[in-house]
Amino acid sequence: MKKTLKTCALHNYREIPQIAKLSDEMLEAIEIVGRVLPFKSNNYVVDELIDWNNIETDPIFTLTFPRKEMLEKKHYNAIKKMLDNGASKAEIDKKVLDIRLSLNPNPAGQESNVPMLGDIRLKGIQHKYPETVLFFPSQGQTCHAYCTFCFRWPQFSGMSGLKFAMKEIGLLLKYLLLKKKVTDILFTGGDPMTMSANVLAAYIEPLLQPEFNHIRTIRIGTKSLTYWPYRYLTDEDSDELIALFEKIVLAGKNLSIQAHFNHPVELSTEAVQKAIARIRRTGTQIRTQSPLLKNINDKPELWSTMWRKQVDLGCIPYYMFVARDTGAKAYFEIPLDRCWMIFRRAYNKVSGLCRTVRGPSMSDHPGKIQILGVREIGGEKVYILSFLQARHPSWVGIPFFAHYDPKATWFSHLKPAFGHQKFFFQTDNWKERITTPFDFE
Ligand SMILES: *Cc1c(COP(=O)(O)O)cnc(C)c1O
Ligand code: SF4
Repeated sequence: MKKTLKTCALHNYREIPQIAKLSDEMLEAIEIVGRVLPFKSNNYVVDELIDWNNIETDPIFTLTFPRKEMLEKKHYNAIKKMLDNGASKAEIDKKVLDIRLSLNPNPAGQESNVPMLGDIRLKGIQHKYPETVLFFPSQGQTCHAYCTFCFRWPQFSGMSGLKFAMKEIGLLLKYLLLKKKVTDILFTGGDPMTMSANVLAAYIEPLLQPEFNHIRTIRIGTKSLTYWPYRYLTDEDSDELIALFEKIVLAGKNLSIQAHFNHPVELSTEAVQKAIARIRRTGTQIRTQSPLLKNINDKPELWSTMWRKQVDLGCIPYYMFVARDTGAKAYFEIPLDRCWMIFRRAYNKVSGLCRTVRGPSMSDHPGKIQILGVREIGGEKVYILSFLQARHPSWVGIPFFAHYDPKATWFSHLKPAFGHQKFFFQTDNWKERITTPFDFE
């Protein structure tokens, strides 16, 4: 069952037959919100994942189609007014840019993860934790569809100053040769699986040479199993891609697909199940991760079902994230104690094989901060937190305490508990330290 990718976006979504199911209000929302947040879907998502009979609440529709509530009312109304009054493209573009800039387009200080090689700033690399280097291949800075909650959205919106991308594999290799503590390279984006097999091979094959023996694991972060499983089945170069996976594994590397799955429906089609099986037969591991998202997956049963299904299919549950404070966050955010409750209720319903998952975790400037729970200590209600990853590795695994705030949805909203002025890691020079993390040898 070969399928050819047909994407839809603002200019052509009206050609999808299912669009007839949408109300005028929903169509208007697509026109307006779709100008500010990235909008792209495709024929697999539309034909096989979305339930068009329950469109008001369908999680996969919400995942790729803009809805009115994703923009603040004042922003929504401003764009609507401009469109109604026939404003020029230049005027609208300017307003759109203003709105985007107000939506925290580059959260968690990602800029400060960009390393130097001599005096060259390696814009396509982020190196925050000693063992793992993120690489953003320039040809992989798009996705088969766009998630409405995406925190990488400046990358797709033509805000090119913020685009982390780099063609020069040579610089990456030079950097990795110098950094012998690096064991993992994570290709990310966008979605690196939008690249052709031969472009991907050009990036990965040099790493199979003996001088890169310290690189033990090649990871690929991708949502292609949700958005385009045919990538591994019937695309022109899918056989070549599978052969590349085999080659990487035969060369003695771990190949790990870091697959984004947000909802159990994404694991239900014949295509995704076949794609997972085909990838697994190459010896590649598949680990899964997702943010917790209001209006998409904010129910414990969805997570326990999803983890179980993943383990059934041979995948390894890996991370549950708190949705980032960016873009349409007001539509997706969940108070931290509710994130913890959802995690706990899902986690205690599954066997140990699913409990490889860790979370809920906030990826913020200092590191990945896990919410261990809410307790009352000495008469004060507190969050207990701990770093799963930290800019300074010695911070990892030390429980610490924040004053309980029922409205907090992100780490930056929390204050230290017990009247302390600072969290334990906020020593006098903690900011200096975290802006120069690249002296790992
Ligand atoms: C999450 C993350 C990693 C990978 O962390 P692991 O815990 O090893 O999966 C690497 N770099 C950055 C910037 C990250 O946010
Ligand atoms: S697949 Fe990942 S990078 Fe692409 S839009 Fe979704 S969250 Fe963003």
